[in-house]
Amino acid sequence: MSTTRTVTEEDFRMPEYQRAKVEDYEFRADGKLVRKDRWETGIRRIEAIVGRHRREGFEIPELIAAIEAMEERAYPKGQCSNDECGWLGRLADCTASGAIPCCPECGEKVEPRATNADEGGAA
Ligand SMILES: [Zn+2]
Repeated sequence: MSTTRTVTEEDFRMPEYQRAKVEDYEFRADGKLVRKDRWETGIRRIEAIVGRHRREGFEIPELIAAIEAMEERAYPKGQCSNDECGWLGRLADCTASGAIPCCPECGEKVEPRATNADEGGAA
């Protein structure tokens, strides 16, 4: 089968590099050929995942705060009720004794910790 299209150098390239420009790539420390804008592209994908996409743009600390808020909702934190212990961590890490989460350090009751959202902080 033949077409009228002329064979070009691009036809010999791997599909992922067929339209690539040399100036858009660099070698990573391990020798792999990678796009120079891969970090920015990754951050923009994360921005879309957390629903922070705004026309006026965003700053990295805002994105981190949005991810931390998602993390807090998914894995709420708790604090040990024993003041001498003071353990603070994920409720999911507490060893459950019945329905009451217990401190993995001292075994005392763990109370859910107030979040920034509860305090009217980061939205
Ligand atoms: Zn404790």
